[in-house]
Amino acid sequence: MATPSASSHEKENPLESMMSRFDGAAQILGLDPETYSVLKNPAKQVIVSLPVTMDNGKVKVFEGYRVIHSTVLGPSKGGIRFDMGVNLDEVKALAAWMTWKCAVVDIPYGGAKGGITCDPRAMSKGEIERLTRSYTLSMADIFGPDKDIPAPDMGTSAIEMAWLMDEFSKTKGQTTLAVVTGKPLVLGGSLGRTEATGRGIMVSTFAAMQKLRMNPNKATCAVQGFGNVGSNTAKLLDERGIKIVCISDISGAYWNENGIDIKDAILYRDENNGSLEGYGNADKMDSADDLLTCKAGILVPAAKEDVITLANASKIQARLIVEGANGPTNSKADEIINEKGITVVPDILANAGGVTVSYFEWVQNRLGMRWPLERVNRRSDRIMKEAFDHVYKISKEYQVPLRTAAYIVAIDKVAQTYKLRGVY
Ligand code: GLU
Repeated sequence: MATPSASSHEKENPLESMMSRFDGAAQILGLDPETYSVLKNPAKQVIVSLPVTMDNGKVKVFEGYRVIHSTVLGPSKGGIRFDMGVNLDEVKALAAWMTWKCAVVDIPYGGAKGGITCDPRAMSKGEIERLTRSYTLSMADIFGPDKDIPAPDMGTSAIEMAWLMDEFSKTKGQTTLAVVTGKPLVLGGSLGRTEATGRGIMVSTFAAMQKLRMNPNKATCAVQGFGNVGSNTAKLLDERGIKIVCISDISGAYWNENGIDIKDAILYRDENNGSLEGYGNADKMDSADDLLTCKAGILVPAAKEDVITLANASKIQARLIVEGANGPTNSKADEIINEKGITVVPDILANAGGVTVSYFEWVQNRLGMRWPLERVNRRSDRIMKEAFDHVYKISKEYQVPLRTAAYIVAIDKVAQTYKLRGVY
């Protein structure tokens, strides 16, 4: 077992991880120093104190953030995270990743991210609602359909987006659906948005398997995380014949070499307070982290950042990693992964299906229309496949891994647009 000091050495702040990849790609592109320094720094950082009356009558003050990394390509876009690990550096990294992500899939948005340091699992629904409304009120001048458009992320879902939309609308005196995406269907949400990130990961996985000549009918896969992204990815891959041999959540990792019936696991989770604890149709592994190094051809880390590190990279058995989470592989592990010949479909490409369908939701809200599911899926599948093919082509052209290629595509697009818009 790693000692605390060894493991902290192997861990990496997500901002450092993001910057190291940005620096690498900027160098390959020959980005000029002025544009480099503009894209390196977030355009705006907002920190707010949020007093909330808790159910016991006492007031607790939470810290909330919104970082707008860039508005070069359009209004900024990005989720809101409720988690105890939320801090400014994390939000800054996540905001920049949104800029690169939107650029890779070529949707007209800049990048932002928000978060509140809190433990939503330890809060009542009423407390979470008051916290969400308080945050929205504090950010009323930041958010806007043409300015900055939030969405769900870790620890948030459609209900928080409904409260956010309602609170924002009250401050403006008019219902403003397009201020936030990932809303419930009856409140202007889009069909297909909940599954969209998982669906994009599925499309990327199949595109990568094709390049690697992996047979989907013989492929095995491990999915880390069983929240919205992980469980939908596992379900969509399972439905298409890929054997899911391992799944995990904070309660542990569950292994079944004959394949786990994902619909059954989702049902179990939903009836068990959102947790896989006690799941009987698979064997519980010694540690949740064992999933990362288990015997599976495809690994989908879909939980959180900084999980593939120097401590475990050399033990990974998968040939293909498809990053469902933002920043799951830290930059220190890149070299080992590349030396081992593992193909990585990077986060800013693989998980961009979510923001793509967010964009469709925003378009539908502005048009006052609702698209059928078939149209949403067809369009997002096409965008994901085209983005994959483009990044793949650039990776061959520059002889670099897919991650570097995705950053090259993104930085080049943002830098060119920035120059066209003009600097004074
Ligand atoms: N939170 C998601 C992400 O990291 C979605 C963001 C959005 O839809 O704006 O990509």
